[in-house]
This record gives sequence, C-alpha cells and structure tokens, in this order.
Amino acid sequence: MTQKYTSRTRMLYANDDEKRNGHYRVQRKYRSNKRAKVLEHLGGVCVQCGFSDERALQVDHIKGGGSQARRKYTCAQTIYNQVLDDDGTHFQLLCANCNWIKRYENKEIMGYVEL
Ligand SMILES: [Zn+2]
Repeated sequence: MTQKYTSRTRMLYANDDEKRNGHYRVQRKYRSNKRAKVLEHLGGVCVQCGFSDERALQVDHIKGGGSQARRKYTCAQTIYNQVLDDDGTHFQLLCANCNWIKRYENKEIMGYVEL
C-alpha cells in the first residue's frame, strides 16, 4: 500500500522529523524576509491612514484584481516578486481596516449589501 502525503516536503522527509522541521524553518525565514522587503519597498505604512504595525499591513492591488491574482498564482511569493519589480503604479500598502473599507466601497465583497 502506498502512503499518501499532503506535501512534497512530507514525502521527502517522511522518516526524518529533524530535517523536515529544518526545511520548514528555512522556508519560514525566507518568506519572512521577503515580506519585510515588500513592506519596505511599499513604504512600510498604510497609504490611507499611516498605520505602521506590520502585522496588519496588507499588499493592495491599486486597480483591483487581487483575489484573481491570488487564485492564479496561489503562492504569495510570486505576488511579492511582482511587487518588488513594480514601479509603484500597481501595488500599495493598506492596513487591514483600510483594505476592507476599500473593498466595501468598490463592492468587491462577496454577498455585498448596501448599508
Ligand atoms: Zn489604514
């Protein structure tokens, strides 16, 4: 009987917890560094209100289409690379509140109801 794995990493390191956890640690560090570069590239604060706590800062597609991009690329790293290559016309930094307000005003929320 063949074993089913939920990821390639689990398959590669099926019998070595230490190597698998080390692999995950390196991936987390890489993602964290890339996110820090993206936040710095976009100014490090919400362009609407100036909020700067990086835990609540989100990359916003200025002209919309963020949900389609996430579905298309599935991996945040691809979008982060696009942000780093961008000249500042396609992406901006918004805090979670301002991002949700923008989505609401643009009626981008599934099940949008006029208040
Ligand atoms: Zn904000």
